[in-house]
Amino acid sequence: MNYIDVHCHLDEFFYKDDIDAVIRRAMGNNVKIIPTGVNPDTNRQVLKLQEKYPNTIYPSLGIYPPDALSKETKKKQDYDIDKEIKFIESNKDKITAIGEVGMDFKDGTDFEQQEKTFRKMIELAIKIDKPIVIHSRKAEIKVIDILEEYNYKKIVMHCFCGKHSQVRRIRENKWCFSIPTSIVRDQHFQKIVKETPLFLLMTETDSPFLSPFKDKKNEPSFVIETIKKIAELRNMAEIDVANILYRNAERVFGT
Ligand SMILES: [Zn+2]
Repeated sequence: MNYIDVHCHLDEFFYKDDIDAVIRRAMGNNVKIIPTGVNPDTNRQVLKLQEKYPNTIYPSLGIYPPDALSKETKKKQDYDIDKEIKFIESNKDKITAIGEVGMDFKDGTDFEQQEKTFRKMIELAIKIDKPIVIHSRKAEIKVIDILEEYNYKKIVMHCFCGKHSQVRRIRENKWCFSIPTSIVRDQHFQKIVKETPLFLLMTETDSPFLSPFKDKKNEPSFVIETIKKIAELRNMAEIDVANILYRNAERVFGT
Protein backbone atom coordinates (compact mmCIF):
# COMPACT_ATOMS: atom_id res chain seq x y z
CA MET A 1 0.00 0.00 0.00
CA ASN A 2 1.12 3.54 -0.70
CA TYR A 3 0.36 6.45 1.58
CA ILE A 4 0.88 10.17 1.65
CA ASP A 5 1.11 12.66 4.49
CA VAL A 6 0.02 15.90 2.81
CA HIS A 7 0.77 18.16 5.77
CA CYS A 8 3.41 18.03 8.50
CA HIS A 9 6.19 20.08 10.08
CA LEU A 10 9.56 18.36 9.94
CA ASP A 11 11.37 21.34 11.49
CA GLU A 12 14.83 20.82 12.96
CA PHE A 13 13.42 22.28 16.15
CA PHE A 14 10.95 19.43 16.55
CA TYR A 15 13.10 16.53 15.26
CA LYS A 16 16.60 17.37 16.38
CA ASP A 17 18.50 14.11 15.92
CA ASP A 18 15.75 11.85 14.75
CA ILE A 19 14.76 13.52 11.47
CA ASP A 20 16.58 10.97 9.27
CA ALA A 21 15.17 8.06 11.24
CA VAL A 22 11.68 9.55 10.93
CA ILE A 23 11.98 9.96 7.16
CA ARG A 24 13.47 6.49 6.73
CA ARG A 25 10.59 4.98 8.68
CA ALA A 26 8.21 6.77 6.33
CA MET A 27 10.12 5.41 3.32
CA GLY A 28 10.01 1.90 4.80
CA ASN A 29 6.23 2.20 5.07
CA ASN A 30 5.78 3.67 1.54
CA VAL A 31 4.71 7.04 2.88
CA LYS A 32 5.35 10.10 0.72
CA ILE A 33 5.59 13.36 2.61
CA ILE A 34 4.58 16.93 1.86
CA PRO A 35 6.33 18.82 4.66
CA THR A 36 5.35 22.43 5.06
CA GLY A 37 7.33 25.57 5.71
CA VAL A 38 5.74 28.49 7.50
CA ASN A 39 8.43 31.19 7.38
CA PRO A 40 11.84 31.87 5.75
CA ASP A 41 13.72 29.50 8.04
CA THR A 42 11.41 26.49 7.76
CA ASN A 43 10.84 27.03 4.01
CA ARG A 44 14.59 26.57 3.49
CA GLN A 45 14.67 23.54 5.76
CA VAL A 46 11.97 21.89 3.65
CA LEU A 47 13.93 22.52 0.45
CA LYS A 48 17.03 21.00 2.03
CA LEU A 49 15.11 17.85 2.97
CA GLN A 50 13.87 17.56 -0.58
CA GLU A 51 17.45 17.63 -1.90
CA LYS A 52 18.35 14.80 0.46
CA TYR A 53 15.23 12.67 -0.11
CA PRO A 54 13.97 13.62 -3.59
CA ASN A 55 11.61 10.64 -4.01
CA THR A 56 9.96 11.00 -0.63
CA ILE A 57 9.82 14.72 0.14
CA TYR A 58 7.53 17.02 -1.85
CA PRO A 59 7.93 20.57 -0.51
CA SER A 60 5.14 22.94 0.38
CA LEU A 61 6.31 26.48 1.09
CA GLY A 62 4.24 29.03 2.90
CA ILE A 63 3.86 32.01 5.14
CA TYR A 64 1.97 31.35 8.33
CA PRO A 65 -0.10 34.27 9.59
CA PRO A 66 2.95 36.33 10.52
CA ASP A 67 1.47 37.96 13.58
CA ALA A 68 0.58 34.60 15.10
CA LEU A 69 3.12 33.34 17.59
CA SER A 70 5.81 31.03 16.25
CA LYS A 71 5.41 27.49 17.52
CA GLU A 72 9.13 27.29 18.13
CA THR A 73 10.04 30.57 19.73
CA LYS A 74 6.63 31.71 20.98
CA LYS A 75 7.49 35.09 19.47
CA LYS A 76 5.83 37.06 16.72
CA GLN A 77 7.48 36.72 13.33
CA ASP A 78 9.30 39.61 11.76
CA TYR A 79 10.52 39.36 8.17
CA ASP A 80 9.96 40.89 4.74
CA ILE A 81 6.91 39.11 3.35
CA ASP A 82 7.28 40.28 -0.25
CA LYS A 83 10.88 39.12 -0.31
CA GLU A 84 9.83 35.68 0.92
CA ILE A 85 7.06 35.49 -1.68
CA LYS A 86 9.69 36.17 -4.35
CA PHE A 87 11.86 33.43 -2.88
CA ILE A 88 8.98 30.94 -3.00
CA GLU A 89 8.19 31.89 -6.58
CA SER A 90 11.82 31.48 -7.58
CA ASN A 91 11.61 27.87 -6.32
CA LYS A 92 8.39 27.06 -8.15
CA ASP A 93 9.92 24.14 -10.03
CA LYS A 94 10.94 22.41 -6.80
CA ILE A 95 7.71 22.80 -4.88
CA THR A 96 4.49 20.84 -4.83
CA ALA A 97 2.21 23.28 -3.04
CA ILE A 98 1.77 26.64 -1.38
CA GLY A 99 1.13 26.27 2.35
CA GLU A 100 0.56 26.50 4.97
CA VAL A 101 -1.17 29.82 4.54
CA GLY A 102 -4.40 31.27 5.82
CA MET A 103 -5.70 33.20 8.77
CA ASP A 104 -5.66 32.65 12.51
CA PHE A 105 -7.97 34.67 14.73
CA LYS A 106 -7.00 32.69 17.81
CA ASP A 107 -3.26 33.33 17.94
CA GLY A 108 -3.12 36.37 15.65
CA THR A 109 -3.88 40.01 16.32
CA ASP A 110 -3.49 42.02 13.10
CA PHE A 111 -6.25 40.64 10.92
CA GLU A 112 -5.90 43.24 8.21
CA GLN A 113 -2.30 42.30 7.63
CA GLN A 114 -3.21 38.59 7.78
CA GLU A 115 -5.74 39.08 5.04
CA LYS A 116 -3.29 41.00 2.86
CA THR A 117 -0.68 38.27 3.18
CA PHE A 118 -3.23 35.53 2.61
CA ARG A 119 -4.45 37.17 -0.60
CA LYS A 120 -0.88 37.53 -1.86
CA MET A 121 -0.31 33.83 -1.23
CA ILE A 122 -3.49 32.83 -3.06
CA GLU A 123 -2.49 35.02 -5.99
CA LEU A 124 0.96 33.43 -6.03
CA ALA A 125 -0.54 29.92 -6.02
CA ILE A 126 -2.77 30.82 -8.96
CA LYS A 127 0.12 32.44 -10.82
CA ILE A 128 2.40 29.41 -10.48
CA ASP A 129 -0.49 26.94 -10.65
CA LYS A 130 0.03 25.08 -7.37
CA PRO A 131 -2.52 23.78 -4.88
CA ILE A 132 -2.89 25.67 -1.60
CA VAL A 133 -2.88 24.09 1.87
CA ILE A 134 -5.05 26.22 4.12
CA HIS A 135 -4.96 27.01 7.82
CA SER A 136 -8.10 28.66 9.17
CA ARG A 137 -8.20 28.56 12.96
CA LYS A 138 -11.21 30.48 14.30
CA ALA A 139 -11.23 32.33 10.97
CA GLU A 140 -13.11 29.77 8.94
CA ILE A 141 -15.87 31.93 7.47
CA LYS A 142 -13.50 34.73 6.48
CA VAL A 143 -11.11 32.27 4.88
CA ILE A 144 -13.86 30.53 2.90
CA ASP A 145 -15.29 33.90 1.77
CA ILE A 146 -11.90 35.00 0.45
CA LEU A 147 -11.18 31.69 -1.29
CA GLU A 148 -14.59 31.68 -2.98
CA GLU A 149 -13.85 35.14 -4.42
CA TYR A 150 -10.92 33.70 -6.34
CA ASN A 151 -12.85 30.70 -7.58
CA TYR A 152 -9.66 28.62 -7.48
CA LYS A 153 -10.21 24.89 -7.23
CA LYS A 154 -6.94 23.39 -6.01
CA ILE A 155 -7.60 23.85 -2.33
CA VAL A 156 -6.86 21.57 0.62
CA MET A 157 -8.36 22.53 3.97
CA HIS A 158 -5.87 21.22 6.51
CA CYS A 159 -7.23 20.08 9.86
CA PHE A 160 -10.50 21.94 9.36
CA CYS A 161 -12.27 22.61 12.65
CA GLY A 162 -15.15 24.82 11.49
CA LYS A 163 -18.85 24.25 11.92
CA HIS A 164 -21.04 21.87 9.99
CA SER A 165 -22.44 24.59 7.69
CA GLN A 166 -18.87 25.53 6.69
CA VAL A 167 -17.95 21.90 6.11
CA ARG A 168 -20.90 21.77 3.75
CA ARG A 169 -19.72 24.88 1.88
CA ILE A 170 -16.27 23.38 1.42
CA ARG A 171 -17.79 20.18 0.13
CA GLU A 172 -20.02 22.07 -2.31
CA ASN A 173 -16.96 23.94 -3.60
CA LYS A 174 -15.26 20.54 -4.08
CA TRP A 175 -12.25 21.56 -2.04
CA CYS A 176 -10.44 18.75 -0.21
CA PHE A 177 -10.16 18.04 3.51
CA SER A 178 -6.93 16.61 4.80
CA ILE A 179 -7.78 14.48 7.80
CA PRO A 180 -5.26 14.40 10.66
CA THR A 181 -4.20 11.37 12.68
CA SER A 182 -6.06 12.71 15.71
CA ILE A 183 -9.18 11.37 13.99
CA VAL A 184 -8.64 8.20 16.03
CA ARG A 185 -10.28 10.00 18.97
CA ASP A 186 -11.69 13.21 17.46
CA GLN A 187 -15.41 12.99 16.69
CA HIS A 188 -15.39 16.17 14.60
CA PHE A 189 -13.13 14.58 11.96
CA GLN A 190 -15.00 11.28 12.20
CA LYS A 191 -18.17 13.15 11.27
CA ILE A 192 -16.49 14.89 8.30
CA VAL A 193 -15.25 11.53 7.05
CA LYS A 194 -18.65 9.91 7.31
CA GLU A 195 -20.37 12.69 5.36
CA THR A 196 -17.84 13.61 2.69
CA PRO A 197 -17.35 11.81 -0.62
CA LEU A 198 -14.05 9.94 -0.56
CA PHE A 199 -12.69 11.81 -3.58
CA LEU A 200 -12.48 14.95 -1.42
CA LEU A 201 -10.46 13.36 1.40
CA MET A 202 -6.72 13.23 2.00
CA THR A 203 -4.50 12.19 4.89
CA GLU A 204 -2.16 14.25 7.02
CA THR A 205 -0.41 13.97 10.36
CA ASP A 206 0.36 17.63 11.17
CA SER A 207 3.44 16.12 12.85
CA PRO A 208 4.78 16.65 15.43
CA PHE A 209 1.31 17.64 16.62
CA LEU A 210 -1.97 15.68 16.77
CA SER A 211 -0.43 12.26 17.40
CA PRO A 212 -2.76 9.27 17.27
CA PHE A 213 -0.77 7.83 20.20
CA LYS A 214 -0.89 9.63 23.53
CA ASP A 215 2.68 8.73 24.45
CA LYS A 216 4.44 9.24 21.09
CA LYS A 217 5.46 12.30 19.10
CA ASN A 218 3.66 12.24 15.79
CA GLU A 219 5.50 11.41 12.54
CA PRO A 220 4.51 10.82 8.89
CA SER A 221 4.42 7.00 9.17
CA PHE A 222 1.51 7.32 11.56
CA VAL A 223 -0.66 8.55 8.68
CA ILE A 224 -1.60 4.88 8.36
CA GLU A 225 -3.73 5.33 11.50
CA THR A 226 -5.93 7.83 9.63
CA ILE A 227 -6.44 5.32 6.83
CA LYS A 228 -7.37 2.59 9.32
CA LYS A 229 -9.92 4.84 11.01
CA ILE A 230 -11.47 5.98 7.71
CA ALA A 231 -11.73 2.36 6.57
CA GLU A 232 -13.50 1.49 9.81
CA LEU A 233 -15.90 4.46 9.60
CA ARG A 234 -16.74 3.84 5.96
CA ASN A 235 -16.84 0.08 6.35
CA MET A 236 -14.28 -0.44 3.56
CA ALA A 237 -11.05 -2.36 3.14
CA GLU A 238 -7.96 -0.40 4.18
CA ILE A 239 -6.31 -1.02 0.84
CA ASP A 240 -9.21 0.54 -1.05
CA VAL A 241 -9.24 3.63 1.17
CA ALA A 242 -5.45 3.95 0.90
CA ASN A 243 -5.55 3.71 -2.89
CA ILE A 244 -8.36 6.21 -3.33
CA LEU A 245 -6.85 8.78 -0.97
CA TYR A 246 -3.40 8.34 -2.49
CA ARG A 247 -4.85 9.03 -5.94
CA ASN A 248 -6.68 12.09 -4.62
CA ALA A 249 -3.35 13.56 -3.57
CA GLU A 250 -1.82 12.63 -6.91
CA ARG A 251 -4.69 14.36 -8.71
CA VAL A 252 -4.39 17.60 -6.74
CA PHE A 253 -0.67 17.76 -5.95
CA GLY A 254 0.75 15.87 -8.91
CA THR A 255 2.87 13.76 -6.54
ZN1 LIG B 1 0.40 22.67 10.30
